[in-house]
Amino acid sequence: MTVYAAPGHPDALVTFAPRYEHYIGGEWVAPVRGQYFENVTPITGGAFCEVARGTAEDIEAALDAAHAAAPAWGLTSPAERAVILNKIADRIEENLEAIAVAETWDNGKAVRETLNADIPLAIDHFRYFAGAIRAQEGGLSQIDADLVAYHFHEPLGVVGQIIPWNFPILMATWKLAPALAAGNAVVLKPAEQTPASILFLFELIGDLLPPGVVNIVNGFGAEAGKPLASNPRIRKIAFTGETTTGRLIMQYASENIIPVTLELGGKSPNIFFDDVMRADDGYWDKAQEGFAMFALNQGEVCTCPSRALIQESIAGDFLDAVVERTERITRGNPLDTDTMVGAQASNDQFEKIKSYLDIGRQEGAQVLTGGGVEDLGGEFADGFYIQPTIFRGDNSMRIFQEEIFGPVVSATTFTDFDDAIRIANDTLYGLGAGVWSRDGATAYRAGRAIEAGRVWVNNYHAYPAHAAFGGYKSSGIGRENHLMMLDHYQQTKNLLVSY
Ligand code: NAD
Repeated sequence: MTVYAAPGHPDALVTFAPRYEHYIGGEWVAPVRGQYFENVTPITGGAFCEVARGTAEDIEAALDAAHAAAPAWGLTSPAERAVILNKIADRIEENLEAIAVAETWDNGKAVRETLNADIPLAIDHFRYFAGAIRAQEGGLSQIDADLVAYHFHEPLGVVGQIIPWNFPILMATWKLAPALAAGNAVVLKPAEQTPASILFLFELIGDLLPPGVVNIVNGFGAEAGKPLASNPRIRKIAFTGETTTGRLIMQYASENIIPVTLELGGKSPNIFFDDVMRADDGYWDKAQEGFAMFALNQGEVCTCPSRALIQESIAGDFLDAVVERTERITRGNPLDTDTMVGAQASNDQFEKIKSYLDIGRQEGAQVLTGGGVEDLGGEFADGFYIQPTIFRGDNSMRIFQEEIFGPVVSATTFTDFDDAIRIANDTLYGLGAGVWSRDGATAYRAGRAIEAGRVWVNNYHAYPAHAAFGGYKSSGIGRENHLMMLDHYQQTKNLLVSY
């Protein structure tokens, strides 16, 4: 067990600047209007730095820098870009612990996650796209005796990227790595709740990129996000966030006829067929662990398995077991590597989750465990901690239909296979799903029948860089990860030449 010292403490691995500017053209640049906002750590509820509050003027400055850098960057070879992406990955790896602590302090998530999942996955994404871009080839084909076709992949140019607060560094990486590998220059807007860890990261890696290739403008959605997403000087907008914001992003993009990638909300079903229950092997235990994944990252995961569907015949025993399991989840100081559930990312999110705990009760759902605020006392008394909570109710309830984005799972039962699929698909969303069954045919049929872009079978929450990720229905448009991302950040050109 390790307890990392909090930033500000003499033994801390991380020192945040008291004030962060925008990162534009390789420089730290003060906001044109001179305004700043406070960045709060959810661990104690206290402000720890202030951050430049971006407006349309700052977005224009960042776009100037990106447009100045894009032509030369777009002409670098895939091999040159791969070297830089690998250097970024190496630099992150060398500073893994410090970056993990910075991410935990900014977001509130448990450091065991940032150390073992978020930051290692970010490293792997840079390495994956360093390799992917080298494997991509244009081509040459003979059309007839006098005509030859050359096929080129060209970068789009300057792209906009807007990310949420739940995985600040990993979401930035999912967007930056393929865009840079493909030769684009970027203007990135972090979420206003969690800019500091990304800015800390760029203090470490910024020098590895030519100035202007990545520009970061901080600030709020309406003030900095909209002028970026609606700007005629970007050739694509990639967005991760809420479905309601995604609708706006699509409207802005339609004005400029540019492509969008939208990674939006979810209300993922996790289905447990009755054959999971047999006490004579490790499988039963694995299924319970899969259920408890609702609390991973404090439930602030777009694919959070927030609806548990349990076959009626095992519901009593299964729920008893998972209640007991959930009560064993360690809560506490997010900087302690033993802690499994940390703090919710912001006070707004904390209040929103509490309101859903009330809504669930008002709707008549039964609270099987949790249902309130986690009082850690002492220095954490003003932090944003929620007890992992299991509701039992009906899929028509709001707690089953609306994204709570907290460590809250709504459990219900089904009778047979068809009933399970009907309930699973009775949602606006289609991002993730889990299926648990010892029977390969049942798992396969369920996996195919669920309307979601990612279905985990007998496991939950793996995110390899080479597996395409994205949503059906209101969960989004397009995919992230996988080689196909290069196509999302490139134009294809044919040159038809007669000799
Ligand atoms: P949000 O939509 O409120 O904000 C996301 C980002 O959009 C922020 O940077 C915000 O400043 C910006 N923004 C807000 N309004 C804007 C506007 N009008 N124009 C341009 N930008 C604007 O979402 P959030 O609350 O930060 O994030 C949580 C949501 O993200 C959840 O719904 C979650 O499911 C989703 N999410 C999805 C995925 C995925 O891959 N599908 C991954 C992580 C999170």
